[in-house]
Amino acid sequence: MTKEKALAELDTAVMFQFKAFLDEADAARLSYAITEARRTMLTQVCYFLGGRGMSTADINACRKVAGLYLWTDSENRKITWTLNSIHLRGRAIDIVPLDKNERANYNDVETYRKLAEIAANHGIEWGGNWSSEKRDGPHFQIV
Ligand SMILES: [Zn+2]
Repeated sequence: MTKEKALAELDTAVMFQFKAFLDEADAARLSYAITEARRTMLTQVCYFLGGRGMSTADINACRKVAGLYLWTDSENRKITWTLNSIHLRGRAIDIVPLDKNERANYNDVETYRKLAEIAANHGIEWGGNWSSEKRDGPHFQIV
């Protein structure tokens, strides 16, 4: 989604910190895409079902209602550890670095580290700093 759309979804109490973060990332010519900002409870529930023993077909019934793309069996894995995501309150965004062909590269540690450094200057916490069990590289939040 565009930066403007993501910012518009955020809690107004944190919107300007995220704007300053993303503006600085743009000024540093970091190449990235924002994949998600505010999340509905329905979407969170659909995410939570993954990798917890429910069939992909049943999860896809949830995903269809939520307007999410449908999973293949290999995508049916644990992708969140909580039903109480900071995304529900519009206080987090997910970011993926883009390679020179504008393709998502979740393994671009160098860009993530640069983003995290800029984010920290604006009081934004990076999920990549969390302990291994909960580490969430794309995730940036203000609790
Ligand atoms: Zn996130």
